[in-house]
Amino acid sequence: MTERTLIIVKPDGVRRSLVGRVLSRFEDKGFKLVELKMLTMDKALAEDFYSPHAQKPFFKELVSFITSGPVVAAVLEGDGAVEVVRRMIGSTKSAEAAPGTVRGDFALGVTQNMIHASDSVESFQRESRIILG
Ligand code: UDP
Ligand code: MG
Repeated sequence: MTERTLIIVKPDGVRRSLVGRVLSRFEDKGFKLVELKMLTMDKALAEDFYSPHAQKPFFKELVSFITSGPVVAAVLEGDGAVEVVRRMIGSTKSAEAAPGTVRGDFALGVTQNMIHASDSVESFQRESRIILG
């Protein structure tokens, strides 16, 4: 079923000039790029975006990292976008992420893990409202 999902290349990916290579993977796979935006999240936006994690011990570090520089947000459209894109980004802990995934190929960190992707259609709707308006 045609679906949409939101990815965000995090500040580490933008700093390392990997945005084009990351977006290319999803275009190569067959997803259509339907929205694209560069922005720098402020604290309030980041806290709203990551509110499901507000009670987690890593929340402060996560907000500090995600606001540390510009990010690139993209909406991707295609068959099964949410699940397929989640598979393409790899496990949260980059050091354990499978080769061939974005995190497996480009990152080593847990907090600094290159990329966000929505984990459900409901998350996509909530997140895209916050990031893209
Ligand atoms: N994160 C962290 N420490 C942890 C787990 C997660 O700093 O122990 C960060 C990491 O950047 C991750 C984000 O919090 O991408 C959101 O966590 P989630 O469990 O939703 O992982 P994701 O869905 O991004 O794989
Ligand atoms: Mg998540």
